[in-house]
Amino acid sequence: MKDTHKHQGLRNQLVTTINEKGIIDKNVLNAIAAVPRHLFMDSGFVDFAYQDKAFPIAAEQTISQPYTVAFQTELLQVKPNDKVLEIGTGSGYQTAVLLEIGIRVYTIERQKELFKKTKLFLPKLNYKPKKIIFGDGYKGLPEEAPFDGIIVTAGAPFVPKPLLAQLKIGGRLVIPVGDEVQTMTLFVRTGEKDFEKHEFGNFRFVPMLKERN
Ligand code: SAH
Repeated sequence: MKDTHKHQGLRNQLVTTINEKGIIDKNVLNAIAAVPRHLFMDSGFVDFAYQDKAFPIAAEQTISQPYTVAFQTELLQVKPNDKVLEIGTGSGYQTAVLLEIGIRVYTIERQKELFKKTKLFLPKLNYKPKKIIFGDGYKGLPEEAPFDGIIVTAGAPFVPKPLLAQLKIGGRLVIPVGDEVQTMTLFVRTGEKDFEKHEFGNFRFVPMLKERN
């Protein structure tokens, strides 16, 4: 598991690319510059790790495109020490980006194989989420609620009510909503029963699925 000057150089170029695409949050750009994305991909894909593209990982899932990870993280508007729930651990790349910012991360994955792999892998790079859970993201994580932010990294056919209910007042849910194509959607909890909704363009994610396997 090597991270070299060459990799750092490629990451700096990637940061320039996503900055040119509109990401300006310094915390987010610094995190993308720091996380060794090539180590989150199977060895065959190492050469592609610093292109701004999604790639296949295990179990027919994907590691999200760096721009998408940056976009969602920027929308969360979280700061060091905030408490964030991630739905869809996958490779752990988005988890690592949140951890670089100094966030306390709770993350849920429904695919057993990926869950096991990523749970072992992240600590090897010294990335330590508060909890990595094998479970169903539609339910959120009521025992740890409320959260400053919740980020969903799979395409959601609808907005799960438990996720809205598990936000602090002032907390933010970032979720791609839709079937074939998803609209990036931000909910801000403005009161006990009040939410603002904002929509931001189209993205494509692997679908958020119901049953665990
Ligand atoms: N954040 C990941 C993106 C992985 S793709 C990364 O940076 O690599 C989306 C992930 O969501 C997949 O791993 C998929 O198995 C998971 N997923 C799908 N439905 C889910 C659900 N209901 N609960 C939790 N995770 C789910």
